[in-house]
Amino acid sequence: MASRRVKDDKMNQHVGALASNGAPAAGAGDTGEPVVRLVDVRRHFGPTAALDGVSLTVGKGEIVGIIGRSGAGKSTLIRCLNGLERPDSGEVHIEGREIGRLGEKQLQPLRRRIGMIFQHFNLLSAKTVEENVALPLKIEGVSRPERLRRAAELLELVRLAGKAKDYPASLSGGQKQRVGIARALAARPALLLSDEATSALDPETTRSILALLRDINRQLGLTIILITHEMEVVRSIADRVAVIDAGRIVEEGEVWKVFADPQSDIATSLLQGIRPQLPAEIAQRLSPTLGSEAVLRVDIAGEAALGPLLADLGGPAGAFRFLHGGIERVQGRPVGTLFLAVPSGEPDLSRTVEFLTGRGARVEVLGHVFDND
Ligand code: ADP
Repeated sequence: MASRRVKDDKMNQHVGALASNGAPAAGAGDTGEPVVRLVDVRRHFGPTAALDGVSLTVGKGEIVGIIGRSGAGKSTLIRCLNGLERPDSGEVHIEGREIGRLGEKQLQPLRRRIGMIFQHFNLLSAKTVEENVALPLKIEGVSRPERLRRAAELLELVRLAGKAKDYPASLSGGQKQRVGIARALAARPALLLSDEATSALDPETTRSILALLRDINRQLGLTIILITHEMEVVRSIADRVAVIDAGRIVEEGEVWKVFADPQSDIATSLLQGIRPQLPAEIAQRLSPTLGSEAVLRVDIAGEAALGPLLADLGGPAGAFRFLHGGIERVQGRPVGTLFLAVPSGEPDLSRTVEFLTGRGARVEVLGHVFDND
């Protein structure tokens, strides 16, 4: 069995980067085991519960976002995943192996199954781009020609083929992170852990790095965990999101569902920055007492958002005004927030709310305004 695995690994080194990572390489890639399984992981520092019973499963090829504010427990979670931190209790399984109690020596080969990218890239400034990328292979004892061949292949993958001989100082932030990604993939990991990898980048560069991670995920079937405090990152590429707060996962689900209908206060507040909000000048004029128009917040998603909602609303609501908002696609599903001003008088208002609710929307009456205010 052991000799078979060595042979397979050698073969993997000779096929292209794309094919080799997609194939079940070393480890338990094709056993159907989840790549990561956390069971009730707890880690306290004195009175602080950094992790307070975290359970999470990540399947092969998934992209899972773990989002939370500063101090929520994200770094501690990462450190438990790569074996730098030992949980007080609970289990951490990587490709089916429980790593929580392993010694340093047994951990090392398992750590190679996890590639990491960081906010500040962590490149070695005295080494060229290709040397940085090849470094994990040098540590593994791979020969220099083989290392450089693999580095060239990876630099091609991250679209930096022309920069192999350059030094990190001459690269832009986005290029540095591409080098970081290539280096993280050098040892053909089963899991890529991204620790706020786009937090130091401008929005356009962030988008290009996230698109690259998405491409790599699709081409290689690579499993990715993204640690972030930005919902934008989760929206762009994650399949699933786990919201962490005070060491606990307070909400977990498909990204579009969490966007459409956040259950926790923390998810709601993290979403505030990127979901449409009532424009401030209207919000300031809202009155709790009756005006000529009621201002509604209408959240709608999935099938319900595909129909001619506004056209059909004309009947029950009469002369309504569309104030703000829109429908976007999250994971290819429509998710929208619309702000409408509708006639306030009863029974018109109740009828309008009933109509929208009947179409699967969530409706909130935010207050009232006077005509054309
Ligand atoms: P995040 O990465 O989400 O900002 P952390 O995992 O760094 O959160 O921290 C979670 C909580 O645990 C915080 O209250 C933090 O102060 C505490 N904490 C983390 N590491 C330590 C440590 N080594 N010693 C004491 N407290 C720690």
